[in-house]
Amino acid sequence: MTHRQFQPDSIEINNDAPSPTHHHPSLVWVLPALALLLTGCAKAPDQSQTHAAEQNPTSTTTKTSTPPAASATPTPTNLPTATWTPTPSQMPTDTWNIFGPGLVEIPILLYHHVEHSPDSTIYSIDIQLFESQMELLSQLGYRTITHMQLRQAIYEGALLPPKPILITFDDGHVDNYINAFPIMQTYGLTGTIYIVANRLDSDGFLSVDQLNDMINATWEVGSHSMSHADLVTLQPEELRVEILDSRLLLEDRLGVEVRSFAFPYGSFNEEIIGKIQNYGYRTGMGVGKINSHTASTIYYLSRHDVHGYLTMEDFRSLLSSNGIQ
Ligand SMILES: [Zn+2]
Repeated sequence: MTHRQFQPDSIEINNDAPSPTHHHPSLVWVLPALALLLTGCAKAPDQSQTHAAEQNPTSTTTKTSTPPAASATPTPTNLPTATWTPTPSQMPTDTWNIFGPGLVEIPILLYHHVEHSPDSTIYSIDIQLFESQMELLSQLGYRTITHMQLRQAIYEGALLPPKPILITFDDGHVDNYINAFPIMQTYGLTGTIYIVANRLDSDGFLSVDQLNDMINATWEVGSHSMSHADLVTLQPEELRVEILDSRLLLEDRLGVEVRSFAFPYGSFNEEIIGKIQNYGYRTGMGVGKINSHTASTIYYLSRHDVHGYLTMEDFRSLLSSNGIQ
C-alpha cells in the first residue's frame, strides 16, 4: 500500500487536541485493523477477530470525545521562519528543515525485548542485530526526536533535523536499560519507553532508578496502561484506571510529564481514543506500516513493529517508504 491511500482528502489544522474522526473513517480504522492481524504484544490469536470487529468501519460507535475548542488554521506567525534562533543546546549540526504543518513523514519504530539469542523473534531482537540497526540509523543521518516535536510538526510546522525518527519501546523490560540504552547512547540516539505502570520496579521490568538514568539522558516515558489490559474489553471506570491513573502514577513516581500513550496489543476503538485525548495525552502510539502522520492519526500513530527476524534490507526499507516489510 502507499501512503496515498491513507492521506485524508483535506488536512485540517488546529492547534489543540483534534478529533480522530475528522477524516475518511474507513481508512483510518481499516489500516490499523489489518496491522493488528500481524502484530501486537503477544496477543492471544483468538482475540484478533474481536479487534477487527471493534474497528469495523461500518461501526456506528457514538462519538464520546469532545475536543476542546480549537483555534483556526495557524497564521504564518505560528510557523518557524528563517529568523528562528536555536539556543546553544538546540544548535543543529545538520541543515534542519521545516516539517509540516499537515502531513509529516517520519518513521516510528517499536521494539519490545532486546536480548542475547532470543527464543522468539516476534517480540524480541538480538542485541547484535539491534546494534547494527542503530549503527545504520546513525550512518544514514537519522536523529531521534520526541513525540511532541512530531505533534508540533503536524499542527504548526516544526524545524527538525533532516532525517527525524522516533524510537519507542513497549512494556518496560529491564533489558531495554541493560542492552538497548547503552547502544543507543553510543550512537547519540534517544528513545521513548512505554511503561506498564503497575509493573514498575517489579522483577524483569524497569525500576524507577533505571528510568531516572534514561530520563537524565533525555529519554521520554509514556504510559502503556496500568496493567496491560485489553482496553476494548473494559468498562469506563476500568478505562479511567488504565489510562488516567497510570499516567498520574508514573508522573508521581518519576517526576516527569507523561503525555503519550501506547495501546496494549495495539487494541483500540473510537471511545478509547476519545479518552486518551480527554485524560491528558497529546499523542497515542499504535501499530502500523506507514510513515505518514496527520492530525487524524495523532492518537493512533503508526509504528513499525521491528521483529527480530527482519533482515537489514527489510529494516532499511521500512525507514524510507510506506511499503511492505
Ligand atoms: Zn505491550
